[in-house]
Amino acid sequence: MSRLLEVNDLKVSFKTYGGEVKAVRGVDFHIDQGEVLAIVGESGCGKSVTAQSIMGLLPKKVSMIKGGSVTFNGEEILGLPKKKMQKLKGSEIGLISQDPMTSLNPTMRIGSQIAEAIKKHTNYSKSQVYARVIELLHLVGIPNPEKRYKQYPHELSGGMRQRVLIAMALSCEPKLLIADEPTTALDVTIQAQILDLLKDIQKRLDTSIILITHDLGVVAEVAQRVAVMYAGVVIESGEVEEIFEAPKHPYTWGLLHSVPKYEKGNHEKSRLVPIEGSPPDLFAPPVGCPFAARCEYAMEICVDQMPDVTKSSPTHSARCWLNDSQAPSVKDFVAAGGER
Ligand code: SF4
Repeated sequence: MSRLLEVNDLKVSFKTYGGEVKAVRGVDFHIDQGEVLAIVGESGCGKSVTAQSIMGLLPKKVSMIKGGSVTFNGEEILGLPKKKMQKLKGSEIGLISQDPMTSLNPTMRIGSQIAEAIKKHTNYSKSQVYARVIELLHLVGIPNPEKRYKQYPHELSGGMRQRVLIAMALSCEPKLLIADEPTTALDVTIQAQILDLLKDIQKRLDTSIILITHDLGVVAEVAQRVAVMYAGVVIESGEVEEIFEAPKHPYTWGLLHSVPKYEKGNHEKSRLVPIEGSPPDLFAPPVGCPFAARCEYAMEICVDQMPDVTKSSPTHSARCWLNDSQAPSVKDFVAAGGER
């Protein structure tokens, strides 16, 4: 598989009246052609900010890219001028957002909205654009597309509106789709249908998908690889099986413990239950492990020093001192008075 997108040491801050919020603090990950990567974590962990940085969607006045790089097909796209970024977004990268109601124009027929997206990036004639809209509506499973073409967003159900957004994102045949919590606003049955649609699109069109979610059921259902984020850092990443069956970071253990059923087919019971305590203050992030204040295994070194990335397989890595060769095993830790 060829490397499509690579994010290296990405750092993003926000200017606020209270000072600088260090929202993303050195994020690394990649996605290959045709792959589905899930970025998972609690709200505020930096996953959506990371996606917005890739898409050049951060509000310029209040955000600052403090460092790092984002390459797409080998070319740097971080900080690309607006026009070039818009061209890239239209032709190579599509975005599916969480709430179709705010992303669709309520005063425009849905067919016209998809047609606008097509016209921006092609020289199609009127009839070709119409035919392409109908084809896209078919592709995303909207029945009776000729009739739906003329309807307004409020005439469609939430699931149908999300399908329209997916059709718009696919209008330019993107190599990469970024789906930011695409099913959060939908009920469970419709969520499952939208996830099936995303899986189908990935297979049929060989599209890569970055799926941003706080829902481990969604991850198990769709993704091949996972990056777990906490306090603006990727604290663990690996193949889905590696993360679900042999996680290496106490935060991931906490996430998995908080999910009653996370295997395929049990999606409806998979919402995260918050882990006790709160993430650190990103105005003044800790110098050591950001999870230390909530971690039952925290050692002295955890507070003083950020753990390095340790690899447990070519595809699985984590940032936790417990994975250091000199660290006590969790079993020894428990024997010495830990609680696990
Ligand atoms: Fe817990 Fe220390 Fe690992 Fe952080 S580095 S997760 S505090 S054991």
